[in-house]
Amino acid sequence: MTHDLLVVGSANVDLVVPADRRPGAGETVLGGDTVVSPGGKGANTAVAAARLGADVALAGAIGDDAYGTILTESLRGAGVHTDLLRTVHRPTGVAYITVTPDGENSILVSTGANAELAPADVEGASSGAKVVVASLEVPLPTVERAITVAAGAGARTLLNLSPAADVGETVLAAVDVLVVNEHEAAWLLGSSAEPARLLELGPRAAVVTIGARGALVATPSGTVEIAAPKVKAVDTTGAGDAFTGALAAALADAEELETAARRAAEVAAISVTRPGAQPSYPSAQELRRR
Ligand code: ATP
Repeated sequence: MTHDLLVVGSANVDLVVPADRRPGAGETVLGGDTVVSPGGKGANTAVAAARLGADVALAGAIGDDAYGTILTESLRGAGVHTDLLRTVHRPTGVAYITVTPDGENSILVSTGANAELAPADVEGASSGAKVVVASLEVPLPTVERAITVAAGAGARTLLNLSPAADVGETVLAAVDVLVVNEHEAAWLLGSSAEPARLLELGPRAAVVTIGARGALVATPSGTVEIAAPKVKAVDTTGAGDAFTGALAAALADAEELETAARRAAEVAAISVTRPGAQPSYPSAQELRRR
């Protein structure tokens, strides 16, 4: 089956604990009640795009366990196609997330089943896709293969280099849009994280998300600042994935990159006003009503 948008990436269950502050080394902090919700960079990105009406499939791996069921149900509920979601003999990935009252989060990921997503799993996956998005939390060779195959098949490629990883030069040269946050940009460039310099690494365009300030879109014709709508942030978990999913959905809809980034900033701003990752993502109808 072919789909307009293919997302290659992780599927994790998020175990979210609210806390007044995050524990330091060797310290125990009492937090609030745990909220169990579907997450993972790949699944989040796919759900964000599907909620906006995109025809999207996720190539990923989950375990044969209760967390895997939570993920499959959430993906299908949002309309994500799961024919490329493999069930493997490892526990489903889990993200342990602490959220503090300022809305900031810190995250520890147990990769589990995601580590089993192999280059062979993405080999024919992008055929017919208009846009292919890959993010890390799955093995680097799989991400690299996904981008290379997709570019070869004529799809538009988005690489969300999160968490930052040492991607090969030839792969970066096959990326149409590199999406990173400020930390990842600094990791790639060193101290002077000038977005335009990301283009020297190979991609045709780069988008740097800068939290509550919005995003910077760098292309060979210059860098444009996309302001984030002003909102009261409750939980920023998965804001970057909401942004990437909405950006990819808009590009699959043949929008210009700058217009797509504006739409992505709108979607991501809504997502931070509500708790959780996937449950916080708006639908196309909700966006139209605003
Ligand atoms: P996360 O790890 O929390 O998913 P990230 O570090 O990958 O996020 P950010 O740059 O923090 O990425 O956020 C992604 C996008 O979400 C931003 O570009 C912006 O559009 C939106 N966003 C994040 N925080 C806010 C906020 N407080 N108000 C409005 N928009 C926000």
